[in-house]
Amino acid sequence: MACKRTVAFSRNAVNLFFHLLTRCNLDCRHCYINPDQHGTATLPLATVRRWLEAFQPRSRETNLVLLGGEPTLHRDLAHIIRLAREMRFGSLTVDTNGYLFHDILARVTPAEVDYFSFSLDGPTAEINDPLQPQLPPLLHQPGSTRHANPAV
Ligand code: SF4
Repeated sequence: MACKRTVAFSRNAVNLFFHLLTRCNLDCRHCYINPDQHGTATLPLATVRRWLEAFQPRSRETNLVLLGGEPTLHRDLAHIIRLAREMRFGSLTVDTNGYLFHDILARVTPAEVDYFSFSLDGPTAEINDPLQPQLPPLLHQPGSTRHANPAV
């Protein structure tokens, strides 16, 4: 089986980072999204569609990264993913903190999402835990590092 690269970006790629909402279930100390400054709003589906149309790839492949806040808190995320696929974005990534709300894994297929991206705040629980005191259930394994941080 061919091995896919974990990051689809290449040297001359066009990458679109789309914040679907600023709301998040976590409150990481290092997060650059500050609810006082950025609010906790969620873009309605119609607005998301218009922005995707505005950036729809016309010639070069465009990698789309959907993020927040926590993108899986958006109730229409599965719909948005399908829209993006129809618009022929290149790779499609969802940057999540690992909670995976609204049964997102059951609502999309591997053909629709190239990557669910989880980044780590540090190599050990001792480093991670003070930064992010809540534990995503998906990543809750004894001895594991925890928390995905799309903002870093
Ligand atoms: S999970 Fe990401 S968006 Fe949410 S508070 Fe942490 S760094 Fe910010």
